Amino acid sequence: MNQELIMSVSGVRGIAGKTLTPSVLTRFAKAFGTFSGPGKIIVGRDTRASGEMLKHAVFLGLISCGCEVIDIGICPTPTIQLSVRVLKAKGGIAITASHNPIEWNGLKFISSNGMFMDETHAQRLFKIYQNGRFRKISCKELRREQVYPFAVHTHIKKILNYLNRDLIKKRKFKVAIDCCNGAGSVISPLILRKLGCSVIEVNTKPDGLFPRNPEPTPENLGVLSSVVKSKRADIGFAYDSDADRLSIVSEEGIAIGEEKTLALAVDYILSKKKGVVVTNVSTSMAIDDIVKKHGGRLVRTKVGEVNVSKSAKANKAVIAGEGNGGVIIPAIHYGRDGISATGLILQYLASSRKTISELVSLVPQYCIVKKKIEISREKAMSVLKKLKKEYKDARIDWTDGLKVLWKDSWIHFRASGTEPVMRIIAEAKTKERAEQLCNTGMKTVNKLKS
Ligand code: MG
Repeated sequence: MNQELIMSVSGVRGIAGKTLTPSVLTRFAKAFGTFSGPGKIIVGRDTRASGEMLKHAVFLGLISCGCEVIDIGICPTPTIQLSVRVLKAKGGIAITASHNPIEWNGLKFISSNGMFMDETHAQRLFKIYQNGRFRKISCKELRREQVYPFAVHTHIKKILNYLNRDLIKKRKFKVAIDCCNGAGSVISPLILRKLGCSVIEVNTKPDGLFPRNPEPTPENLGVLSSVVKSKRADIGFAYDSDADRLSIVSEEGIAIGEEKTLALAVDYILSKKKGVVVTNVSTSMAIDDIVKKHGGRLVRTKVGEVNVSKSAKANKAVIAGEGNGGVIIPAIHYGRDGISATGLILQYLASSRKTISELVSLVPQYCIVKKKIEISREKAMSVLKKLKKEYKDARIDWTDGLKVLWKDSWIHFRASGTEPVMRIIAEAKTKERAEQLCNTGMKTVNKLKS
């Protein structure tokens, strides 16, 4: 993987200690402190070993700009987002590289509304980072760093207040979880036990040593799948390292794919309350079918949590999220939240009296194939422009990169904001057709880039 420092609307990511050095981190924190102005800044992190180094560099930058640093420790990214609002902070920084491999780390910047920074604000922040015009303060303006140990409990309380706890408790679910030794390792078992579940824990040592690839995609969930089956659990839940994404394993031990998490959540929420659903352009057509079935309205945005969150808020959505397993429950907060989604799926299971396999069988079946090609952002942009000509028989959507649509299939080409790759995603009624679309797309991109 290309090891450059990646600055995007999702924040900054790099290899800890190489491209993401203490001086780079302090400079980013100074830029954020300058951008936010004096006041509380919430800082939390996932379990990566480099998190400790990053944390101190970030504190240094923030304090030097007169910010009051509130350290909420190791916790999921959604816990940090929620804490920004609960503690009425000026902003927050999540120290995480989400699903990237262990040698990576990064900073995600959170606005005072608990949502990630949008494109405009991110550009302003990067400008401050580059021009080095940081806020200068006198000794009198220096604030202390404070530790706030209750963030996880506040998050749990907020989710429990939203759910029908008694309904879930009555079912005494047996649940297996795989937290990848990440930030969900503490909060997930805690909330599940409060919901009356017996919990079988896999990879819940928050030591940051990832025993599997952190992406909760089916190919990475072999251990959880066999545990669910052998222990006869009702369901299995898997998270990425900062627990904003949730993936499900059925009682038969089948990893159903992270695309299905949002589909199940939308099906359940719309069955209770009609309204607007927001997702990005790269998410399964199953969502269109489910929204049509219930008579709601679907809004599609650019890929990236902040785009979905902003639209969800503006459209007063009842549910939102992304096909990567990131579910947003606006009644709790506007961040993708794997822990809230866990509770919601259990409530669906409890209220339906069906098995998770039966609920999944109600979701319209499509096959989605996701691939990526290593390519610089600049090159990817020039390839995208040329690609359109290759698809003359289809509808074109430029919401985010190039999406090519037919009646019951599509292919989407997009330069990733977080890695030097082009993502190519295709969906169709059968795996063969989706594979074929994706492979042809890959070949075309490889031809155009050379
Ligand atoms: Mg994540």
